[in-house]
Amino acid sequence: MVRPRSVALEPSQVRVDWSDGHKSIIENRRLREACPCALCQGEPMPLGGRFTMPLVSAIAKDVRPLGYSMVGLYAISFRWSDGHDTGIYPYEYLLGLCQCETCTSKKKVSP
Ligand SMILES: [Zn+2]
Ligand SMILES: [Zn+2]
Repeated sequence: MVRPRSVALEPSQVRVDWSDGHKSIIENRRLREACPCALCQGEPMPLGGRFTMPLVSAIAKDVRPLGYSMVGLYAISFRWSDGHDTGIYPYEYLLGLCQCETCTSKKKVSP
């Protein structure tokens, strides 16, 4: 399984160096908006399979992570400048958000 070798919090983006040599770049705001926690994404309704509205709607343009911590051996959680810190980003989820050249050109090809 791929693991992050290092995580760098830069002014506008987060860089993750993975154990397989992949270097991920994800814009801060994109990463914040993609926060997978229930507050941000809404919780699934117990019946009907519909989702509630996210409780956090307006995300500051200049939001950035102030820190991060490793969660077990499968995820990273970020502490954001807007005070939010409940999101847990599994490695595979982070890879799906990756905006490096390799990943963006792959995404252009596939529909
Ligand atoms: Zn969240
Ligand atoms: Zn990538």
